[in-house]
Amino acid sequence: MEKWPIGVFTSIDAGLGVKIEVAHELGVPTIQLHAPAKKTRTAANAEKFLAYLNELGITLTAVFGGFEGESYADIPTVVETVGIVPPAQRAARVQEMKEIADFAHMLQCDVVALHLGFIPHDKSDPLYGEVVEVTRDILDHCQNNNQKLHLETGQETAAGLIEFISDVERDNLFINFDPANMILYGTGEPIEALRQVGALVRSVHCKDATWADNPGVEWGAEVPLNEGAVGMEDYLRTLDEIGYTGPLTIEREIPQDPARQKTEIGNAVNLLTQLKDKIN
Ligand code: MG
Repeated sequence: MEKWPIGVFTSIDAGLGVKIEVAHELGVPTIQLHAPAKKTRTAANAEKFLAYLNELGITLTAVFGGFEGESYADIPTVVETVGIVPPAQRAARVQEMKEIADFAHMLQCDVVALHLGFIPHDKSDPLYGEVVEVTRDILDHCQNNNQKLHLETGQETAAGLIEFISDVERDNLFINFDPANMILYGTGEPIEALRQVGALVRSVHCKDATWADNPGVEWGAEVPLNEGAVGMEDYLRTLDEIGYTGPLTIEREIPQDPARQKTEIGNAVNLLTQLKDKIN
């Protein structure tokens, strides 16, 4: 694959992201896919979907896990509802994540990704060890499929994420770096964070955001690419610096306005294309 193919975050029938057709219409060569609903995750559908992607000339680079009942409404709601940290949903979601990994395997995709949820920052909290344990369980399942798991950044600081990955002690655990999430969650200056976690970054989101008045307490705001505080040229130059050559996957979540979403993703494709030319 060429250096930095452009990508877009998509979905079929569940989860976040734009429709595959939008990627096709915008001439985007790669996608990440938010896992479809359970009833869709069959071998027959996987075969059909793969044939469709081949026909469109689109490469699938990662399948993201997501679960019913997750809400990104505000930071406290994320703590309560997202990922495999909430105890009440954990066992069922770990099982579902394994099924999602198996579906990704049917799609010949060797990367699955996930928002783990808020990992406790206090390592003496029993919850920390429990999250390490279930992450290992998912990773060992992925390893049987020859897959890597990429953790979406945002909820943790760069240092916290490095420590967690080291504590998990598995060599198929990496990072999907999302610079906007660092701002939205108030967990650190994204360029600096990217330099810190650089060696573990295997996929990225191109997304932008502005800081909240009280970072970490309130949400920042997601905004169109290059209108936020990330600094896209800086971001790409830093990706270059850390030796990242994988896809640049645009993520823009405004499902309430699909027309605007498509326009903004189109603008993002143009911007990234120009920056690629300038930097490479
Ligand atoms: Mg993201």
